[in-house]
Amino acid sequence: MTDLFPADAVLENLFTGATWGEGPVWLPALRRLRWSDIPGNRILEYDDASGTTHVLRTDAGFSNGRTLDRQGRVVQCSHGRRAIERESHDGPRTLVDRWEHGRFNSPNDVVVARDGTIWFTDPPYGIHESGREGYPGRPEYGGCFVFRFDEASGAAAPVITDMVHPNGLAFSPDESVLYVADTGYLQVPGGPAVIRAYDVVDGAHCTHGRDLVAVRPGGTDGMRVDAEGRIWSSSADSVQVFTPAGERLAGLPVPEKVSNLCFGGDDGRTLYITASTSLYRIRTATTDARYADR
Ligand code: MG
Repeated sequence: MTDLFPADAVLENLFTGATWGEGPVWLPALRRLRWSDIPGNRILEYDDASGTTHVLRTDAGFSNGRTLDRQGRVVQCSHGRRAIERESHDGPRTLVDRWEHGRFNSPNDVVVARDGTIWFTDPPYGIHESGREGYPGRPEYGGCFVFRFDEASGAAAPVITDMVHPNGLAFSPDESVLYVADTGYLQVPGGPAVIRAYDVVDGAHCTHGRDLVAVRPGGTDGMRVDAEGRIWSSSADSVQVFTPAGERLAGLPVPEKVSNLCFGGDDGRTLYITASTSLYRIRTATTDARYADR
């Protein structure tokens, strides 16, 4: 544990009051942690200077996962608009909401590669009849794929088509491997609760898909990769850390079901954790694989 967390690291609860928190991202310029309350249909921000949380936006398009692009702008998934969008001073702007065979289901989580392309997962959780995490709707292309969107060409293309319900995703530090969680177990009897790994070819294609590790309890939702290439995964009772080979290194117990996490803080070494109704944080001994890019 000592190479993952300082000896005096303590898990802190920063806020409780969300319905189902998701989509954390650290905003360096504002020194704030922004995240989604998906069923509450709002976006929240924790302000590091004041230690307080405020509502940034309501009627928020049932936003889910988010990240920063190469220019430090927020790119996020919207269940409600079935889109990938970018935040600007006058609100979110849709970047892409369909490919040649129809609209997306409900983009769930997103990463930006060093070449600026946007990679995201598209399970159906935001179009269910319940309307809990979006607006009821029909799937239009008959699958749940991982897509790569090239803003320069305006085209989105599937890069992974053999998963049940792709969810969280993250690149290895050199972007030679893409890790993607499959949460098929949530709705498909006997469905997968695994992190899969794919080799990335020419920065545009994924091959050699393989199950890396089955994560229990509760499976992996969101995840991040640290500067040493280790995978920091959500699960039902903890944050779990794995080697690139899928060997479990450690588990950090969390009092609520963990949905997602991200590194942040001024030195990038604080881990922020969205878990059910709350936002938590803890100091670590590492940082995000992408921290040096900032
Ligand atoms: Mg997710």
